[in-house]
Amino acid sequence: MNTIQISIDGPAGAGKSTISKAAARALGFTYIDTGAMYRAVGLKAIRLGLDTKTDADKIASMMDDTDIDIRHADDGQHIILDGEDVTAQIRLPEVSIAASDASAVAAVRLKLVGLQRRLAEKDSVVMDGRDIGSFVLPDAQIKIYLTATVEDRAKRRYDELIEKGIAANYDEVKADIAYRDKNDASRKIAPLKVPDGAIVLDTTGNTLEQSIALMLGTIKERLRCFSE
Ligand code: C5P
Repeated sequence: MNTIQISIDGPAGAGKSTISKAAARALGFTYIDTGAMYRAVGLKAIRLGLDTKTDADKIASMMDDTDIDIRHADDGQHIILDGEDVTAQIRLPEVSIAASDASAVAAVRLKLVGLQRRLAEKDSVVMDGRDIGSFVLPDAQIKIYLTATVEDRAKRRYDELIEKGIAANYDEVKADIAYRDKNDASRKIAPLKVPDGAIVLDTTGNTLEQSIALMLGTIKERLRCFSE
Protein backbone atom coordinates (compact mmCIF):
# COMPACT_ATOMS: atom_id res chain seq x y z
CA MET A 1 0.00 0.00 0.00
CA ASN A 2 1.23 3.52 -0.76
CA THR A 3 1.57 5.97 2.10
CA ILE A 4 -1.70 7.31 3.46
CA GLN A 5 -2.27 10.84 4.72
CA ILE A 6 -5.02 11.47 7.25
CA SER A 7 -5.69 15.09 8.20
CA ILE A 8 -7.44 16.02 11.44
CA ASP A 9 -8.45 19.66 11.79
CA GLY A 10 -10.62 21.50 14.26
CA PRO A 11 -10.73 24.19 16.94
CA ALA A 12 -8.72 24.25 20.17
CA GLY A 13 -9.69 21.70 22.79
CA ALA A 14 -11.71 19.41 20.51
CA GLY A 15 -9.51 16.52 21.65
CA LYS A 16 -7.60 16.34 18.35
CA SER A 17 -4.22 15.39 19.81
CA THR A 18 -5.38 12.66 22.19
CA ILE A 19 -7.82 11.14 19.72
CA SER A 20 -5.45 11.40 16.73
CA LYS A 21 -2.59 9.90 18.72
CA ALA A 22 -4.74 6.91 19.72
CA ALA A 23 -5.97 6.45 16.14
CA ALA A 24 -2.41 6.62 14.74
CA ARG A 25 -1.24 4.02 17.23
CA ALA A 26 -4.12 1.66 16.34
CA LEU A 27 -3.37 2.05 12.60
CA GLY A 28 0.42 1.84 12.92
CA PHE A 29 0.79 5.34 11.38
CA THR A 30 3.07 8.19 12.52
CA TYR A 31 1.27 10.86 14.53
CA ILE A 32 2.25 14.48 13.91
CA ASP A 33 0.98 17.28 16.17
CA THR A 34 1.52 20.49 14.20
CA GLY A 35 0.17 22.70 17.01
CA ALA A 36 3.28 21.79 19.01
CA MET A 37 5.42 23.43 16.29
CA TYR A 38 3.46 26.72 16.52
CA ARG A 39 3.69 26.48 20.30
CA ALA A 40 7.50 26.17 20.08
CA VAL A 41 7.57 29.37 18.01
CA GLY A 42 5.30 31.10 20.57
CA LEU A 43 7.58 29.94 23.39
CA LYS A 44 10.66 31.32 21.67
CA ALA A 45 8.93 34.69 21.09
CA ILE A 46 8.00 34.86 24.79
CA ARG A 47 11.55 33.97 25.83
CA LEU A 48 12.90 36.75 23.61
CA GLY A 49 10.51 39.20 25.28
CA LEU A 50 8.54 39.88 22.08
CA ASP A 51 4.94 41.10 22.17
CA THR A 52 3.25 38.45 20.05
CA LYS A 53 0.29 40.72 19.29
CA THR A 54 2.33 43.57 17.81
CA ASP A 55 5.83 42.29 16.97
CA ALA A 56 4.95 40.39 13.78
CA ASP A 57 8.06 41.70 11.94
CA LYS A 58 10.36 40.64 14.75
CA ILE A 59 8.70 37.21 14.89
CA ALA A 60 9.22 36.90 11.12
CA SER A 61 12.95 37.68 11.38
CA MET A 62 13.26 35.40 14.41
CA MET A 63 12.29 32.52 12.09
CA ASP A 64 15.54 32.92 10.06
CA ASP A 65 17.34 31.86 13.17
CA THR A 66 14.92 29.22 14.49
CA ASP A 67 15.21 25.49 14.14
CA ILE A 68 12.16 23.33 14.89
CA ASP A 69 12.22 19.58 14.69
CA ILE A 70 10.24 16.64 16.02
CA ARG A 71 11.40 13.29 17.35
CA HIS A 72 9.33 10.26 18.17
CA ALA A 73 9.90 8.44 21.46
CA ASP A 74 7.95 5.73 23.32
CA ASP A 75 5.93 8.42 25.12
CA GLY A 76 5.01 10.18 21.86
CA GLN A 77 6.14 13.19 19.86
CA HIS A 78 8.87 15.40 21.29
CA ILE A 79 9.36 18.93 20.01
CA ILE A 80 12.87 20.28 19.67
CA LEU A 81 13.43 24.04 19.57
CA ASP A 82 16.97 25.08 18.61
CA GLY A 83 18.28 21.75 19.91
CA GLU A 84 16.35 21.89 23.22
CA ASP A 85 13.50 19.52 24.07
CA VAL A 86 10.62 21.87 24.98
CA THR A 87 7.81 19.27 24.97
CA ALA A 88 6.69 20.14 28.53
CA GLN A 89 7.23 23.93 28.40
CA ILE A 90 4.98 24.45 25.35
CA ARG A 91 1.85 23.31 27.24
CA LEU A 92 1.68 26.38 29.51
CA PRO A 93 -1.49 28.51 28.91
CA GLU A 94 0.48 31.67 27.99
CA VAL A 95 2.19 29.70 25.23
CA SER A 96 -1.23 28.82 23.70
CA ILE A 97 -2.01 32.48 23.14
CA ALA A 98 1.49 33.30 21.85
CA ALA A 99 1.26 30.33 19.43
CA SER A 100 -2.09 31.52 18.11
CA ASP A 101 -0.72 35.06 17.58
CA ALA A 102 2.51 33.84 15.96
CA SER A 103 0.61 31.45 13.68
CA ALA A 104 -0.84 34.45 11.79
CA VAL A 105 2.68 35.51 10.68
CA ALA A 106 3.36 34.37 7.09
CA ALA A 107 7.05 33.54 7.67
CA VAL A 108 6.09 31.26 10.56
CA ARG A 109 3.54 29.32 8.52
CA LEU A 110 5.85 29.09 5.50
CA LYS A 111 8.61 27.45 7.50
CA LEU A 112 6.38 25.09 9.51
CA VAL A 113 4.22 24.02 6.56
CA GLY A 114 7.42 23.05 4.66
CA LEU A 115 8.50 20.88 7.58
CA GLN A 116 5.03 19.31 7.88
CA ARG A 117 4.90 18.41 4.17
CA ARG A 118 8.35 16.82 4.30
CA LEU A 119 7.31 14.68 7.29
CA ALA A 120 4.16 13.51 5.49
CA GLU A 121 6.15 12.36 2.45
CA LYS A 122 8.13 9.81 4.42
CA ASP A 123 5.47 7.74 6.23
CA SER A 124 1.75 7.18 6.49
CA VAL A 125 0.62 9.89 8.90
CA VAL A 126 -2.20 11.12 11.04
CA MET A 127 -1.48 14.86 11.16
CA ASP A 128 -3.50 17.23 13.29
CA GLY A 129 -3.79 21.01 13.17
CA ARG A 130 -5.98 23.80 11.84
CA ASP A 131 -5.16 23.86 8.10
CA ILE A 132 -3.96 20.34 7.35
CA GLY A 133 -6.75 19.16 5.02
CA SER A 134 -7.30 22.60 3.51
CA PHE A 135 -3.70 23.74 2.99
CA VAL A 136 -0.83 21.53 4.20
CA LEU A 137 -2.02 18.21 2.72
CA PRO A 138 -4.86 19.11 0.31
CA ASP A 139 -4.58 15.65 -1.29
CA ALA A 140 -4.93 13.74 1.99
CA GLN A 141 -6.93 10.56 1.33
CA ILE A 142 -8.99 11.00 4.51
CA LYS A 143 -9.93 14.37 5.98
CA ILE A 144 -11.65 14.78 9.33
CA TYR A 145 -12.88 17.93 11.07
CA LEU A 146 -13.26 17.34 14.80
CA THR A 147 -15.34 19.77 16.81
CA ALA A 148 -17.40 20.25 20.00
CA THR A 149 -19.11 23.16 21.77
CA VAL A 150 -16.84 25.82 23.31
CA GLU A 151 -18.06 24.84 26.83
CA ASP A 152 -17.23 21.19 26.26
CA ARG A 153 -13.79 22.05 24.88
CA ALA A 154 -13.03 24.43 27.74
CA LYS A 155 -14.03 21.83 30.33
CA ARG A 156 -11.73 19.22 28.72
CA ARG A 157 -8.78 21.63 28.49
CA TYR A 158 -9.35 22.71 32.11
CA ASP A 159 -9.41 19.08 33.35
CA GLU A 160 -6.23 18.34 31.34
CA LEU A 161 -4.34 21.28 32.90
CA ILE A 162 -5.44 20.35 36.44
CA GLU A 163 -4.39 16.74 35.83
CA LYS A 164 -0.93 17.96 34.78
CA GLY A 165 -0.70 20.03 37.98
CA ILE A 166 -0.93 23.35 36.10
CA ALA A 167 -3.06 25.96 37.97
CA ALA A 168 -6.12 26.90 35.91
CA ASN A 169 -9.45 28.72 36.08
CA TYR A 170 -12.38 27.46 33.96
CA ASP A 171 -13.55 30.93 32.85
CA GLU A 172 -10.03 31.90 31.80
CA VAL A 173 -9.58 28.64 29.88
CA LYS A 174 -12.92 29.26 28.11
CA ALA A 175 -11.93 32.85 27.25
CA ASP A 176 -8.55 31.60 25.94
CA ILE A 177 -10.29 29.05 23.69
CA ALA A 178 -12.80 31.63 22.41
CA TYR A 179 -9.89 34.03 21.69
CA ARG A 180 -8.03 31.36 19.73
CA ASP A 181 -11.20 30.26 17.83
CA LYS A 182 -11.64 33.81 16.62
CA ASN A 183 -7.93 34.31 15.83
CA ASP A 184 -7.59 30.99 14.03
CA ALA A 185 -10.75 31.38 11.95
CA SER A 186 -10.19 35.02 10.98
CA ARG A 187 -6.51 35.11 10.00
CA LYS A 188 -5.75 35.82 6.35
CA ILE A 189 -3.42 32.91 5.64
CA ALA A 190 -4.77 29.36 5.92
CA PRO A 191 -7.57 30.08 8.41
CA LEU A 192 -9.31 27.33 10.34
CA LYS A 193 -12.22 25.99 8.28
CA VAL A 194 -13.86 22.72 7.37
CA PRO A 195 -11.71 21.45 4.45
CA ASP A 196 -13.49 20.46 1.23
CA GLY A 197 -14.37 16.80 1.40
CA ALA A 198 -13.86 16.52 5.18
CA ILE A 199 -16.04 14.37 7.41
CA VAL A 200 -17.25 16.44 10.38
CA LEU A 201 -17.25 14.62 13.74
CA ASP A 202 -18.85 16.39 16.71
CA THR A 203 -17.62 14.97 20.02
CA THR A 204 -19.81 17.10 22.33
CA GLY A 205 -20.84 15.03 25.35
CA ASN A 206 -18.68 12.05 24.35
CA THR A 207 -16.23 10.29 26.64
CA LEU A 208 -12.70 10.06 25.28
CA GLU A 209 -13.23 6.36 24.53
CA GLN A 210 -16.40 7.14 22.54
CA SER A 211 -14.59 9.81 20.52
CA ILE A 212 -11.66 7.49 19.76
CA ALA A 213 -14.06 4.75 18.66
CA LEU A 214 -15.95 7.24 16.47
CA MET A 215 -12.78 8.48 14.78
CA LEU A 216 -11.27 5.01 14.30
CA GLY A 217 -14.54 3.60 12.95
CA THR A 218 -14.76 6.46 10.45
CA ILE A 219 -11.14 6.05 9.31
CA LYS A 220 -11.33 2.25 8.98
CA GLU A 221 -14.51 2.50 6.91
CA ARG A 222 -12.77 4.93 4.54
CA LEU A 223 -9.62 2.79 4.37
CA ARG A 224 -11.79 -0.19 3.37
CA CYS A 225 -13.18 1.88 0.47
CA PHE A 226 -9.57 2.51 -0.73
CA SER A 227 -8.56 -1.14 -0.56
CA GLU A 228 -11.69 -2.45 -2.33
O1 C5P B 1 -3.36 22.57 18.55
P1 C5P B 1 -2.78 23.57 19.53
O2 C5P B 1 -3.81 24.14 20.44
O3 C5P B 1 -1.61 23.01 20.25
O4 C5P B 1 -2.23 24.76 18.60
C1 C5P B 1 -1.71 25.95 19.13
C2 C5P B 1 -1.99 27.10 18.16
O5 C5P B 1 -1.21 26.90 16.97
C3 C5P B 1 -3.43 27.20 17.66
O6 C5P B 1 -4.24 28.04 18.43
C4 C5P B 1 -3.29 27.76 16.26
O7 C5P B 1 -3.30 29.16 16.29
C5 C5P B 1 -1.91 27.35 15.83
N1 C5P B 1 -1.95 26.30 14.81
C6 C5P B 1 -2.09 26.68 13.50
N2 C5P B 1 -2.04 25.75 12.51
C7 C5P B 1 -1.88 24.45 12.80
C8 C5P B 1 -1.76 24.03 14.15
C9 C5P B 1 -1.82 24.99 15.14
O8 C5P B 1 -2.24 27.86 13.21
N3 C5P B 1 -1.81 23.56 11.81
